[in-house]
Amino acid sequence: MIRHLALCALLLTGIDAIAAEENPAAPADTAKVERLKPEQWCWTHDLPKDRCTTCDRKLIPALKKANDWCAEHGIAESLCQRCDPKAKTTLDALRPTERPKDAK
Ligand SMILES: [Zn+2]
Ligand SMILES: [Zn+2]
Repeated sequence: MIRHLALCALLLTGIDAIAAEENPAAPADTAKVERLKPEQWCWTHDLPKDRCTTCDRKLIPALKKANDWCAEHGIAESLCQRCDPKAKTTLDALRPTERPKDAK
């Protein structure tokens, strides 16, 4: 009887291990960024329009409130390439592939 219980425990442990392998935790750094539309991009400053504080100073308080503000460089912290080189990857993923002809 004792031997039988031990065998059951072993089997259950084995099943648990298999289940864990089938559901691996998704790595955090593969979060998908949705590419923006050309009209959502500021082609002058190479930033998303909703975070281009050069074009719209009114965005600054909102970014500060969202804790996404780099006071040192005057840009959204999440897009500050001088503070975080990885921000370039984010910008490359966000930047629309098609540049409108009338964009300056
Ligand atoms: Zn701009
Ligand atoms: Zn910065």
